[in-house]
Amino acid sequence: MTTKADLIVVGAGPGGSAAAYHAAQGGLDVILLDRKEFPRDKPCGDALMPHASSEVALMGLSDWLSEPSHGRFRGLSLYTQSARFGEALPPTFHGPYGYVVPRVQTDAKLLEVAKTAGARFYEGVRVTDILRSADGSVVGVEAISNGDASRYEAPLAIVADGSGGSLAGERKARQNVVARRQYLANVTGPDQDHLHIFATEDMNEKGAGYGWVFYFGDGRANVGAGVSTQTLARTGRNLKDFFNRLLEEPMLAEWLKDSEPVGPPKSWSLKTGMWGAKRAGQGLMLVGDAGSLIHPISGEGVGYAMESGRLAAAFAHEAHARRDFSAKLLAGYERGLRRQRAREHLSGLALINALPNLAILEPLFKVGEQDRNLRQTFIEIFTSDAPVYGLLRHPKVLRTLLFRTATQ
Ligand SMILES: Cc1cc2nc3c(=O)[nH]c(=O)nc-3n(C[C@H](O)[C@H](O)[C@H](O)COP(=O)(O)OP(=O)(O)OC[C@H]3O[C@@H](n4cnc5c(N)ncnc54)[C@H](O)[C@@H]3O)c2cc1C
Repeated sequence: MTTKADLIVVGAGPGGSAAAYHAAQGGLDVILLDRKEFPRDKPCGDALMPHASSEVALMGLSDWLSEPSHGRFRGLSLYTQSARFGEALPPTFHGPYGYVVPRVQTDAKLLEVAKTAGARFYEGVRVTDILRSADGSVVGVEAISNGDASRYEAPLAIVADGSGGSLAGERKARQNVVARRQYLANVTGPDQDHLHIFATEDMNEKGAGYGWVFYFGDGRANVGAGVSTQTLARTGRNLKDFFNRLLEEPMLAEWLKDSEPVGPPKSWSLKTGMWGAKRAGQGLMLVGDAGSLIHPISGEGVGYAMESGRLAAAFAHEAHARRDFSAKLLAGYERGLRRQRAREHLSGLALINALPNLAILEPLFKVGEQDRNLRQTFIEIFTSDAPVYGLLRHPKVLRTLLFRTATQ
């Protein structure tokens, strides 16, 4: 079987559906393929940060976001080894909120609007190769569905196959973080309109990581832990062990004492920090996790997947308008991404790689307890609204760092 289109999008997660939606909305004939049947689950913290919520709203889903069954958060609470504070989110055009919605629902909704915009969706189709002509031009993809080989033809492909996808392998970065989450009912912690972040000693003694409790708004919560692969290598421990130890932290154990698991825990890998991936080439663009577009500090990737999908769709339009699918033209996609996001991603990645452990930052967290401006910067770093070096704007941070250097 052969099917032709203007654009093939591989993977119908948030990145692929956003790309397919924006491309189809602008009039391109789009084929969207996923190896899974939908609705499908994806292990995630389920948090839609304010900028991710704005991307969802750009797909016409503002009203859907505000449905009462969705968790809505207006702030973040941070618990480190020595400090504790909460702070409100910075405002966005969608309001000063983020949302917590199970990915099985979010992804199904994004896919639905992509299809309504005109994208032709084929599920249960595993793409096995990108096909090129003798001169290197992309001509389509090869796939397997129900054991049968099939071929989809287009001069342009967007690869949105996630951290776990193996398509365009040599263009991708390696995983550098792993994370595990579990759904629990009857979680009784305070401030359920905040995201709760635990930078525990256990996870940050020999690397970086954090645990979380994100509430859905109905007593259920998404509870999880993510650590860098560096941490695993340095400690010789596995992710499950870090996750189980998190649940034993005294404060969390208290919140969870009456809780009930809703399904088993699930783990997945992350590729963070933009580093090491080649996101644009002849007839090809990589979006979302496939392009390492996860924030290296927060582990947040849904908003970046959607943003990169939207930008890739704009370049798909441009390429078709000019009948030019060259690497040179599509390099503009990479430049656009970098202009938008490289500051936060690369500085965050540099910090994570440079720090032997997070305990080094404890004096700054302690200052944050007393200083609202600094607290806001911490929150903005976490919500992707500021690069980590934004901390250096604060006189108290500079004083603390200088004092530490002088006394060491
Ligand atoms: C435990 C955990 C917690 C997280 N928490 C958050 C959070 O709270 N907020 C947040 O914003 N981000 C979070 N992230 C990151 C977020 O989950 C990802 O950034 C997001 O899923 C990226 O979307 P995507 O569209 O790039 O890829 P995906 O959502 O992974 O979608 C990829 C799709 O491609 C399909 N596919 C793969 N290979 C093929 C193939 N060969 N052929 C056809 N289809 C294929 C897959 O079936 C899948 O549907 C978390 C990640 C983990 C692991």
